[in-house]
Amino acid sequence: MTNYGFLIDQRKCIGCHACSTACKSENEVPLGVYRTWVKYVETGTFPHTRRHFQVTRCNHCANPPCVRICPVTAMYQRTDGIVEFDPKVCIGCKACLQACPYDAIYIDPESHNAAKCHFCAHRIDQGLKPACEIVCPEQAIISGDLDDPNSLISQLIAREPIAVRKPEQGTAPKLFYIDADQTTLTPTAPAVASTFMWADVVSEQLVGHHNGNGHRRSGREVIPLTAASGAKIRPPREQGLGIGQSALMLGGRVAGHMVQTGYNAQHKIPWHWPVPAYLVTKGIGSGIFMVVAAAVGLGLAPLAAPFLAITLFVSLLFIGITTGLLVFDLERPHMFFTILTRPQWRSWLTRGAFILIAFSAVAGIWFLSEAGAALNMWPETAISAFRPALAWIGIPLAVLAAIYTAFLFAQAEGRDLWQSPLLPAHLLVQALMVGSGTLLLLAPFVAMPAALFDLFGWTFAGSLLLDLFMLLLGEFGIPHASEVAARAAHDISHGRFRRHFWQGSILLGHVAPAALIGLAVLIQALAVPLLAVAGLTSIAGLYAFEYAFVMAPQHVPNS
Ligand code: SF4
Repeated sequence: MTNYGFLIDQRKCIGCHACSTACKSENEVPLGVYRTWVKYVETGTFPHTRRHFQVTRCNHCANPPCVRICPVTAMYQRTDGIVEFDPKVCIGCKACLQACPYDAIYIDPESHNAAKCHFCAHRIDQGLKPACEIVCPEQAIISGDLDDPNSLISQLIAREPIAVRKPEQGTAPKLFYIDADQTTLTPTAPAVASTFMWADVVSEQLVGHHNGNGHRRSGREVIPLTAASGAKIRPPREQGLGIGQSALMLGGRVAGHMVQTGYNAQHKIPWHWPVPAYLVTKGIGSGIFMVVAAAVGLGLAPLAAPFLAITLFVSLLFIGITTGLLVFDLERPHMFFTILTRPQWRSWLTRGAFILIAFSAVAGIWFLSEAGAALNMWPETAISAFRPALAWIGIPLAVLAAIYTAFLFAQAEGRDLWQSPLLPAHLLVQALMVGSGTLLLLAPFVAMPAALFDLFGWTFAGSLLLDLFMLLLGEFGIPHASEVAARAAHDISHGRFRRHFWQGSILLGHVAPAALIGLAVLIQALAVPLLAVAGLTSIAGLYAFEYAFVMAPQHVPNS
């Protein structure tokens, strides 16, 4: 069977960008995004310097994580080994951008679907070669059937020493390089530059996507110019000045750089504040249910219909906000229902959507039953017999709702920090913490038996301590699996997200609530307001941590 792959002979490449230009023309790729580009890395100290080129694009991996994570089969693998995409069904969830460890995928700024090199499949189907291969003046790009021992690509691979990008990711890339330098193959090898040869390193990493709803995402750089197509245009700036940097020369050290990137394509960060916010609201919604249902199922405290109706409503409200955030974050929110009509069952985005639906259905039925009893539409005795059954059916669904994101993050193979085996347990503890914290926040407004208040207080205190332990263990106690994960973790504890971690998560999210719990024990009369504030600060602290956890790995370059 045919099995297409690419071979780039970097001995021949002259860095002319003809392949990038031909690809843009052939596939009508908009401004600011690239399906293939030529990366330049300069090494050495004058006069012993060298510029290395690397033609960079989708690897058409034999084991493609982008296909696995896609919730709607928009990204798929053809029988001839080409990893292709279908722009018509893409919902713009950007999960494939997180799964690809090579920065090969972008969001089309005009149509808002994910797109990438597709091996010029439309040309292949007509018996033609990809446009980049045809245009290359050096014949440095060779495509062909890897399973045919007589093809040129197979013979060159058999004869020459070859390399692939990031073989440790286990994706089995089918883009091979002859004479590629480790400094170009390893994205984190060069120092992060503030300027390239012909471009400033500016907005791409700093400005979020604009989705089909026209929402402006977070970012420091404002881009006021817009092309007729709607694509954003970078404003003119003085040549050689990066953001917040006053000089191209970086203190006169440029000539002394051993390894620096001369040119590279710039990539936007796909996920911003809605993702950490979704983690927090999902934790609250599922956590409230777990704590209340455990109290019912185990008979830990007396619970009446009005109280259960209110707490189940709050749980459902936060799950509703979670769903709203998920839809809001899509580049094509109107396509949301495609997850239900065209599910790709290996994706944890799909599984998560169905888990949330199943959980909401059980919580919704229970809420309606309790609300009817609270409003005297039927006697409470009619529902009290079914309460434990509803609780025990709902608890596993609530647990799954709390933890499934850990498996989704594990599928995001482009972000090593998210691959932590601690994550499912950590998400469960976080849900118990903010779920019980929200119940304490309700205590000043809702009549609550003392035994129940104590149960919520103890659950909150225990999960708070456990969360702090897991946080510190994950950050400092367990060695990180890769240099990339360690970089992201360092960015959280000592780098650009250190305030989120120390002031937000540790101080506001753990030390402050622990102090308030201590005060509540000492001054029992003020326990209700003190613990309500403690619940609030733990929620704010969790958002600060989730923000750092979601953002930091996205700042580590993948190409
Ligand atoms: Fe291409 Fe990246 Fe998918 Fe591999 S993971 S097939 S490089 S888009």
